[in-house]
Amino acid sequence: MRRFRRAKIVATVGPASATPDTLRALLFAGVDTFRLNFSHGTHEDHARVHAAIRALESETGSSIGILQDLQGPKIRVGTIAGGAIRVAAGERIRFVLGGVDGVADAIPLPHPEIFAAVMPGHDLLIDDGRVRVRVTGVTGEAIDAEVILGGVISNRKGVNLPGTVLDVSPLTAKDRADLAFGLELGVDWVALSFVQKPSDVIEARALVGSNAGLIAKIEKPSAIDCIDDILRLADGVMVARGDLGVEIPHEDVPGRQKELVRACRQAAKPVIVATQMLDSMVGAPTPTRAEASDVATAIYDGADAVMLSAESATGSYPVETVEMMDRIIRATESHKLYRSIVQASQPGSEETPPHAVAAAAADLAETIGAPVIVGFTSSGTTATRIARKRPSLPILAITPHQSTARRMSLLWGVHASLAGDVDSYEEMVERGAFVARNEGFAAPGDHIVIVAGIPFGRAGTTNNLRVVQIVDGREV
Ligand code: PEP
Repeated sequence: MRRFRRAKIVATVGPASATPDTLRALLFAGVDTFRLNFSHGTHEDHARVHAAIRALESETGSSIGILQDLQGPKIRVGTIAGGAIRVAAGERIRFVLGGVDGVADAIPLPHPEIFAAVMPGHDLLIDDGRVRVRVTGVTGEAIDAEVILGGVISNRKGVNLPGTVLDVSPLTAKDRADLAFGLELGVDWVALSFVQKPSDVIEARALVGSNAGLIAKIEKPSAIDCIDDILRLADGVMVARGDLGVEIPHEDVPGRQKELVRACRQAAKPVIVATQMLDSMVGAPTPTRAEASDVATAIYDGADAVMLSAESATGSYPVETVEMMDRIIRATESHKLYRSIVQASQPGSEETPPHAVAAAAADLAETIGAPVIVGFTSSGTTATRIARKRPSLPILAITPHQSTARRMSLLWGVHASLAGDVDSYEEMVERGAFVARNEGFAAPGDHIVIVAGIPFGRAGTTNNLRVVQIVDGREV
């Protein structure tokens, strides 16, 4: 199934979209990767959706990505006497270690790691930042704080600590069980929530291995501070603007988004911009003008993918939302300013031979007016290196591995094609030309550029470049 755009669409599956018919409609509307959100639903629900997506794959013959999003450690207040407490700006309040209120007017917080790490001056944000308090003193089992932004704190509301690095594993017992289940199902990507530091990615990698690509969700300021190290360890990044927008001021989110997209392009790792992109379409058939602009901004930034959450999971217009996102991406990518804007944020050159060969392929293909760059790729790395240049022509990535083809459904500009192993240079040329013609990317007379790593089948090598003219029955 060929898409006529470069950026990809990730859609979250939920009650509004979990039936085989709606999943099929979403795929045809433009979804490239489906997200299974393990903050909701049972294993049985996710297994049903997974099977339905794989059935669609067999039906359509195109590789579809499945991303498992782990819930991560969610910090919450405990059970408050009376169910809720109203606090006013300037008021002094106390949090106590425990799950249930034993002391009148104290708010229970069942997380000893907070008491160990929080310092005077740090802020606690409760209920997505609706209430903000600043710590004035900490003892072993009590935190005193002054209310900065007043409101109601009720039972089990979420707590964010933007300035505090907590000594917690990024994987709870539930995450570990969910991850084992997801890997058993055969998900293509695993997204790790609330990454605070590089060692969180190492911890998850020990469990994921190479069985799936590992995405670090960036939603904590501490993760932004060490993004280059996180990028070295992860296979991709999600700009998780929901929690990020709680942890940092709203006005800082757009700039951070640009920084993160640029860092990912520099590192040749895919980046997804997520959350509230077309939020009003949860309940309406059209988005606001501002939302359309938000999607376009991510596309102009050069993001690999844009994501839908509630819009496709619980909204009333899941298919219409994907169609709208597809239209916005295509209109943006065909706008006369698009190429100059994307090129202006081109990452600096990478001087390693594989990167230089991939970059040369993109330049060469543009210079000779090739309609496509064909990349032979075992792990997908050659495709990411070409995509890093954001060339003006499509990248046809040929791989013998189903898992690689599925993973590449997240990569900017990449159309994945499954084809058996090639063993010789001649076979590579023939196969590349055949697939390019067969999948409608090139016609007789065209010159195409083929990139490969030789010896074939060894992941990570990108060392060969060939220009081939497509002729009838013979490639030269
Ligand atoms: C987010 O916070 O933006 C996000 C994508 O994560 P979640 O949906 O898990 O909150």
